Amino acid sequence: MPSFVITEKCDGCKAQDKTACQYICPHDLMTLDREKMKAYNQEPEQCWECYNCVKICPQQAIEVRGYADYIPLGGNVLPMRGTDSIMWTIKFRNGALKRFKFPIRLTAEGSVDPYAGQPQADYSKIKQPGFFNYEAKKA
Ligand code: SF4
Ligand code: SF4
Repeated sequence: MPSFVITEKCDGCKAQDKTACQYICPHDLMTLDREKMKAYNQEPEQCWECYNCVKICPQQAIEVRGYADYIPLGGNVLPMRGTDSIMWTIKFRNGALKRFKFPIRLTAEGSVDPYAGQPQADYSKIKQPGFFNYEAKKA
């Protein structure tokens, strides 16, 4: 289910150089119509469905929903960001609503060291299946 911008809610990130959704999309799909100051997903069929744009949008202006041709009766997913959690609202095709609250990471952006605690390189094992080490991963 790709992302779609709810244009009534989008404020174009107040005309910054780059909008939040443009900044975060790993596939460069989000673009801004500078005349209307509304963003849109320029190729939903290419969407990785990573939901980064959905979560970062400060206006909660991006929803996730299926393509109209195979989910014609609707259904969507909307996030509501809090300071320590995201509340996901799931709307089913029959109109039923369910909400799930999940905590979000509170560490500062860029502060996580994913290799902390990993072993140093031992190149004598480099041909062994499953070889992993910090330096090899960094290279
Ligand atoms: S992040 Fe949200 S408000 Fe900003 S341009 Fe994208 S859709 Fe619009
Ligand atoms: S869900 Fe991910 S890949 Fe799709 S438009 Fe948003 S940020 Fe880009």
